[in-house]
Amino acid sequence: MPYEQRLLRVNLSRRTAVVETIPPALCELFVGGRGMGAALLYSEQRPSVDPLGEENRLIFMAGPLAGTQAQSVSRWMVCTKSPLTNGYARSVAGADFGAWLRFAGYDSIIVEGKSASPVYLHITPEACKFFDAGDLWGKDSLRTQELLNERHGGKTRVACIGPGGERLVRYAAIVSGRRTASRCGVGAVMGSKNLKALAITTERNVRVFDPVGFKKVAAEQGRLFRASGQFKEHKEWGTTATQNVTNSIGIFPTRNFRYGQLKNCEKIYGEEYRKLRTGDFGCYNCSARCGKAHHVKTGPYAGAYSEGPEYESIWVFTGPIDSTSIEASIRADQLCDDLGIDTISAGNSIALAYELYEHGIIDSKDTDGMELVYGDHETMVKLITKIGLREGFGSILGEGVVRASRIIGRGAQAYAIHAKGMELPAYEPRGAKSHGFNYATSNIGASHCYGYAAQEVFGVPLPRPINRFDEAKNADIVIGNQDGTATGEVGIICAFSKGWGWYPTNFGSLLAAATGVERFADPAFLQRLGERILNIERAFNVREGFGRKDDRLPTRLLSEPLHTLGAPGEGEMVREMEEFLDRYYELRGWTADGAPTPEKLAELGLAELTKDLWAKR
Ligand code: SF4
Repeated sequence: MPYEQRLLRVNLSRRTAVVETIPPALCELFVGGRGMGAALLYSEQRPSVDPLGEENRLIFMAGPLAGTQAQSVSRWMVCTKSPLTNGYARSVAGADFGAWLRFAGYDSIIVEGKSASPVYLHITPEACKFFDAGDLWGKDSLRTQELLNERHGGKTRVACIGPGGERLVRYAAIVSGRRTASRCGVGAVMGSKNLKALAITTERNVRVFDPVGFKKVAAEQGRLFRASGQFKEHKEWGTTATQNVTNSIGIFPTRNFRYGQLKNCEKIYGEEYRKLRTGDFGCYNCSARCGKAHHVKTGPYAGAYSEGPEYESIWVFTGPIDSTSIEASIRADQLCDDLGIDTISAGNSIALAYELYEHGIIDSKDTDGMELVYGDHETMVKLITKIGLREGFGSILGEGVVRASRIIGRGAQAYAIHAKGMELPAYEPRGAKSHGFNYATSNIGASHCYGYAAQEVFGVPLPRPINRFDEAKNADIVIGNQDGTATGEVGIICAFSKGWGWYPTNFGSLLAAATGVERFADPAFLQRLGERILNIERAFNVREGFGRKDDRLPTRLLSEPLHTLGAPGEGEMVREMEEFLDRYYELRGWTADGAPTPEKLAELGLAELTKDLWAKR
């Protein structure tokens, strides 16, 4: 039996839902998850569509291992064209929704068109029904899920938008449980379609090709997890103590990427968050349960409760505005989840505003009367609500740093910290150069999750030890990190689990046992797979007009020296941007403008799929 996947194609304009089989040839080339999402988006969508227009497709993907007894493999993702970058978007999330998608019998849901009025989809293995969502519109993400669970029962899982998505905040998220597909503005695409939620009601039911073989490998995976010191560490802390490391080595971005260390950072170390921890939570079938819930019981933020913040949100609600208020970060994280907006982009947009205010480029007349002073976390919290509801100055910040700085003018663009229009995550590129070059060359904009350089933060010597201040000589490391991430995301595995002893050997074996395709266990196939995905994603962007000019880091990082409080890296800048790109493109087999050549595409089996790319050039 050939390996097939099933997709549900929903057209909101026509109110139709049709089940289709994905061609086996495509399944064998891309396996599923991220690879399939990118391939479907490339092949189905014509270039230059408006990301917030009805032609843009919104593709939900689960991986072929989701819902199985294997651990940490049930994440889900969304692929679309981003309203933040105008390029390729992939945004990943956890919780149960990926498993539920497969329990309902689907590997993918493609949403097309636009509903004339707010709507939600109720999906079961038997049907997909359209329901009016007028009463849900305006509700936050938590309340929306509660209401849909009341309506459709406890066997229901929901992915929805909050007010941020409805109001087209360009970095709006899609929320399921308290996990979010938050980067790239995928929630704004959903909002532009008047689609409030997908609710799936189903029994747990996933079949694999070889149940006996699969069970054996899954048991081995569990044994390796339990034996792993890194697994135990992650289970205890999640990412709530990563700032202890990044601040000590001088890569904790502070005051809109001016400094690499935060004064008094020990006040926000993991041990301090631990004091407010009230529980653990996890994604479907993952014994790490690395989500850490925090509850503020006293002070001005009493009552604040968040199933987070994780490291990125801890950082973005402290360092960028020079605050050490843990309580404010918990409240800010909670608000972003409720409103359905990305914490990283929201916090960076606020950081931009604080710096502009300090330089006198904006004043209280621009900010609805608010004074933006470093250390003032209460104003940051107010701004988050204004962003999510697109009120006043918050509406400008809801455009993201590139558009907001353009709207403000007066030289504000120089302070917009982004790559391809997406705001930077919590690793200072002048002290972690491979992180920076990953941001620059990533096809989705500045994302640490696109090719995380564990070599730089945790000293992981794979495939070789590196110096984090080296630039062009580490192009191979950036490529390896990006391709390796893409391979795992066909799974869709959790990136944290890669260090727990089971990857890639058991991963390949699980894929083969689940699908019946033996070559999915072949290390050479898996390595090529990541490269293939990076190339199809790059082809999408090239077709949209992206090139070398877009593989950039913010000017600040190339022209202003980094300042630390004593950690290594004082005076560092990014000096070899062009040399890095030359080397990166050469190793990838791309043109000097950063485009995959016809030869490279043919080598990867992509000639037919991408035949339009070079035909038009
Ligand atoms: S390690 Fe954490 S984020 Fe990853 S799958 Fe497990 S619970 Fe989810």
